[in-house]
Formats: sequence, structure tokens, C-alpha cells
Amino acid sequence: MFRVLKFGGSSVAGATRMSRVLDIVENEVLKGRIILVSSAISGCTDALLSGRKEDVAEMERRHREIVKRLFTGAERSDVQAQLDAIFAALRSSPFEEQVTFGEILSTTILACKLCAEGYDVKWLDSRDLVVKGDEPQTFRLIKEAIDGSDARIFVAPGFICRTAEGAVSTLGRGGSDYSAALYAAATGAEALQIWTDVPGIMTADPRRVPAARTIPGISYESALEMASHGAKVLYAPTVKPAMEAGIDIQILNSFNPEGKFTLVSATPNGSRWIGLASEGGRIRLVGAPGRESAPESSVTDVLRECGIAALNIRQDGSSIELEVREAVLNQALNALHRAFFQELPVKDIPLFLAGNGAVAKALTEVIEESAETVKERTGKHIRIVGISDSRHWGIDLGGRPKLENEGDFIAAVIENAPKGALFVDVTDSESLYKFYVQLLTAGIGIVSSNRRSIAVPYVEYAAMLSAARENGVPLRYETTVGAALPVLESISRGTNSCNRLLSIEAVVSCTLNQILGDYRGGGESFASLVRKAQEAGLTEADPRLDLGGRDALRKLLILSREAGVQLEEEDVKIEPVVPKELFQGSLDHFYEGLSALEPRLSKEAIEAERQGFRRRFVASLDLAPDGSYSASIGIRNVAPVHPAYHLRGTENAIIIRSAFHPYPLVIQGPGEGAREAASSILSDILR
Ligand code: ADP
Ligand code: ASP
Ligand code: MG
Repeated sequence: MFRVLKFGGSSVAGATRMSRVLDIVENEVLKGRIILVSSAISGCTDALLSGRKEDVAEMERRHREIVKRLFTGAERSDVQAQLDAIFAALRSSPFEEQVTFGEILSTTILACKLCAEGYDVKWLDSRDLVVKGDEPQTFRLIKEAIDGSDARIFVAPGFICRTAEGAVSTLGRGGSDYSAALYAAATGAEALQIWTDVPGIMTADPRRVPAARTIPGISYESALEMASHGAKVLYAPTVKPAMEAGIDIQILNSFNPEGKFTLVSATPNGSRWIGLASEGGRIRLVGAPGRESAPESSVTDVLRECGIAALNIRQDGSSIELEVREAVLNQALNALHRAFFQELPVKDIPLFLAGNGAVAKALTEVIEESAETVKERTGKHIRIVGISDSRHWGIDLGGRPKLENEGDFIAAVIENAPKGALFVDVTDSESLYKFYVQLLTAGIGIVSSNRRSIAVPYVEYAAMLSAARENGVPLRYETTVGAALPVLESISRGTNSCNRLLSIEAVVSCTLNQILGDYRGGGESFASLVRKAQEAGLTEADPRLDLGGRDALRKLLILSREAGVQLEEEDVKIEPVVPKELFQGSLDHFYEGLSALEPRLSKEAIEAERQGFRRRFVASLDLAPDGSYSASIGIRNVAPVHPAYHLRGTENAIIIRSAFHPYPLVIQGPGEGAREAASSILSDILR
């Protein structure tokens, strides 16, 4: 029984590689007789086809070098003499025949080397045995040649043949694979091995898709489909003779003989998608035969996600064929490969959630709804493993916690937190922040939407930051200012790159924006608008907290600190909307007082409107000429050129001026809403 081994051009490209081929042959010959089929050394066929004298001379130099390194003494001069004769024949042949000499050169060297090693070797001239387009005749001739010899190893050039009329010819580019299959089929070989420079047929061309992986088993049919659509690791005509003779094809890596390889056989590989083949700008997503439901639309979606429009997409049996511009071919292949062939390892993020208000509820929903997308886009999976309200809590690391326990949630979190766990504070607790350092020190990262936890005295804030840094865990609180608007990130980017901050103007009170926006001085009274906002749940339980500017104060502290300014509450000059006296006593007392203020407020509003201004509640931080910062909060009249002039409803605007730019950075958009907050928290979790 024979074993047929075919080596491609890069497997025989130099003396070292040829030695590796000889090692493989020496190992295989222990199992039985061998037919070794070889390509020309890499680059040789191209050089001969170019017809340039200097290219041929370069080939002669490379072959001479190989001989010099593989042989010594008399053997060396003998082999070199043979090569000289072949080059002489090459140069005196008609141009169309010159291309056939590459395989003669490489196989001559291999045969001589095996001979020198003491094997009984016979070189076969494929030009006499392989008849183009006539397989039965080819099989007869090969059998005859082999039957007449006892050699242990036959060495035959791939690629070359003759026509039925007797002219020297070739089997087409890449044709050595086919030569090997013909030798195997003719002799009923027990093995057909194609040794190349990659570990078998892969899910895509590894030169284009670095993440491509070896397909361990593939049917003749699918291998043929991959090969005919551009996977040149196997020359398509190779499949038919092997399949008809019932011979499996092994495709192996000569650079790593013990490594992964592909077995092409009658057995299908079981998966829905086989691989990606490409040629020019054409891509074929090869599907397993018999599975016709090919979701064309998901291919289009994957490409659209990376900004590529597929031209001419169509379903062909269980495969999908499409075309893209060649410039984006690699990008398209990699995106499709990621989507159809890569199982991303999913990273688990265990989450302890403190708070059970509207934001907590929205966050739970958003996490659930976005789970699939999050997994696909980031490879992460968020699992809520602990929840708490102000009195009860529950932990279930499996991800189904229920509120039930009394006692210390934080202690239980620290005790149970798996690696990589995050603590999410969506409460409006004034005291929860006291546990932040403890949590961070225990290696638990924190995501907070609770500005009461961040707008704390500066020393405490600094302690949290350093606990986070020292323990390599995150402390993120983007949601505390402007909900989903990327405010803090924008400020810290500037500050971290030493862009000196000149000023921040923050129009961040949703409540006051709404009320001041609606108040004209003439129509509905200020007190009535405040009451309406309170009833709509737009204010804190006690609306005086909003009017007093405390909420804006907290936001200003957070903004300033993000810019590296160590602001404390006392540093901020607050001009409340209503006088201090109204802040004591009952809510009824407050509303009465507010009604009494109506004439003054109305006059101010009408006057502002007359001058073309709008009234906005602005928290600002300004750089003074002496290098210090001053901070203030109060109602300002803004002109139409001011970015905050056009704010609608509860919109927020943050206007940042810095030394690098003559114009400010303006961040404007929805500043509130449970879902906005939830989506912002989610992105902090995933960051
Ligand atoms: P040889 O010289 O050994 O015949 P080829 O250059 O003809 O080698 O074929 C191997 C090359 O095929 C690989 O280097 C690889 O770039 C390319 N190729 C294209 N598609 C695939 C695929 N799906 N799997 C493996 N290799 C592929
Ligand atoms: N040497 C030929 C080519 O480069 C045949 C082969 O390598 O398979 O196309
Ligand atoms: Mg090839």
C-alpha cells in the first residue's frame, strides 16, 4: 500500500525546509511505501512565467545554494551537474515549456537527497504519466510505472503533465495538489497527505483573518466548495479523484507536523457554517449542505455594523455569496468571521445593587433587555447577585437574589463578592458613601448615580479615589451629573491632557429649567408652577431642596473636582431663588411665602424678557486672574447667543471653556429620566 505525500512550494523553499520534509518522509516511510509529490520551490513558477533572465538567474542561485547546504563532496558536484543540465535544457526550451522545469528541479534535489540517505528511490517523470483530461489513461500509466519497480520511495514532480497529443503542459496554478490526488487514486493509496504552510483548511484565509482556526473535519463536498471559491490551500480539482477512489485527504502543516490538521472525508463536520472563502472582492460564507435556511439579513447586519455595504448578496443553496469593495475585503471577512465563527469568551460581571427606586428598576430592565447585545458587542454578561433597599437585602450568587434579610448588607457583600464584582449605588442615601472605601479596599469596584455619595467633603472623596486606585478597581459616577450626558468624561479628558480649564457653566437643574422656562411673569404664578412640578414628581419630595440650589451645588462640586479643582461646599456662593426664611417651617408656609413673592418675581421675569433675555439657573466655576477658581450658583439672564438660551423643558447644558480652544465645548441634552440614568450606569458598568 502506498502513502502519497505532497509538499507545496513554501514547504521546500530552502535547504532547512527541505530537511524538514525529509524528516517527515523518514517518519512516514516506516509505515509503508511512499510517493512523494512536490511543487517547485516557492516563487519559482512565478519567476519562470515572468520570462525575465534575471529572475531565472536568481532561481538558479537559490537552487545552487540549497544543493550546497544539503550535500557535500562528490554528491554535491553530482547533483549540481544534474541541475546545470536541467537549467541548460530550460534555457533552450520554448518559453511555454519553461514553466514546467520548476518541479523537475525541486524533485531532483529531493530524490538525490533521499538516495544519499540510503533509500531505494525512483524518480517518476510526470510528463510521461499524467495525461491532461484523461484520468483513466493517467491511472494506467502511473500503475504501470510503479508496478515495474521495487523502489521504497517514488518522487514525482507535481503540476506538470502532457496533453493527449503529447505536448508538455501543466495542470494549472496550484495543480500539484491535483497531481498528488491522481497518484493516490491510481495506486489506491491508503493516505493522501497535502503538506502546506498552514494547519489545514481553516475557517478563513489566516493571512486575512488572524483569528481563523483549523477545520478538523470537512466533507469532500464542502472542501470542494471552499476550494472553488478561493481557499487556495486546496486546488479544487484535487477533490474529485480522491473522493471517487474513497481516499481521505489530510491537509497538514509542514512547519508543525504534529499540530492541527484537516481531514477531508465523506463525513460532514456537523456545524451549520463551514468557513469563509474569498476571491477578489467576492466572499462566500460556506454553509453545510442540506441546511437551506441561510439568514442573508444577518450577514448584511454584521457588515452594516462596521460600515460596509454588501453589493450583490445572494443565497446559493445553504451558502451565502456576496461582494464587497476589495479595499474593505479584510475588514468584511474579519467581521463575518467574528460573527459566524468566533465564540467570544464571555466575562461575567457580578453586581450588587443598592437601592430599589425608579432608577434601580430601570437598570434591572435595561440590563435584561440589552443582555444579548452586550454579550455580542462587549463579550460581557452582567449578573445581579445582590440587591438591597434601606432595610432588606438578599444575595444569591446564582443571580436570583430576593429581598429578605435584616442586618448588614455591606458586610455580606464584602464576604460574598466574587472576583470582578461591582457595587452599584442607585440610592439617594446620605450615608452609604461611608462604606465606599471599605468596599473598594475589598477589591469591589463601585458605580454610583448617587451624587450625595460623591459630593462629600474633599478629604473623604480623595480617600475613595486613592482606595480605588490602590486596589485597581473602578469608581465611576458619570450619571451623577447630567444623567446620560458624557459630562465628567469630557471634563477629565481635558484635564488629564493638561488643557487648562477656564470656566464651567452648568445648567443642570432639570426642575428649575422647567419652571423658569415656563414662567413668563404674566400668566401662571411661580408658586403654581412649583406645585405642578412637585406633583409631577419633577422635584425632590421637598421642592425647597431644588430651589435652594443644593442639588446644583452637589453637581458643581463633582464637576469641579473632576477638573482637578478641590472645591468645598463653603466655597460656593449660592443665591437661592427664594429667601432663606421660607426654608424653615412647613410646606404650606413655604407656598404662602412664595405667593407673596409673586410681584417681585414677575417683575424680574418681565424685565428680562423685555431685554431679550431668558432666565436660567446656572452653576458656574471661573478661573480668576490670580489662578484661583470662584464658584457661584444663581439665576442668570442669558442672551440668545448663550448656549443655554435655547434649552427646552428639562434639558441640561454644560458649557466648558478651556485654554486650548477659543470656543466652548457644549454638552446639551436630556438631563433626567430613569432610563437615561440606567443606560448611563450600564455604560459605567461596562467601561
Ligand atoms: P502550497 O504552496 O503549500 O500549495 P498554497 O499557497 O497553495 O500552499 O496554499 C496555502 C495558502 O492558502 C495559505 O498560506 C493561505 O494563505 C491560503 N488560504 C486561503 N484560504 C485558506 C483557508 N481557508 N485555510 C487555509 N489556508 C487558506
Ligand atoms: N508550482 C505550481 C504553482 O505555483 C503548482 C503548485 O505549487 O501547486 O502554481
Ligand atoms: Mg497550493
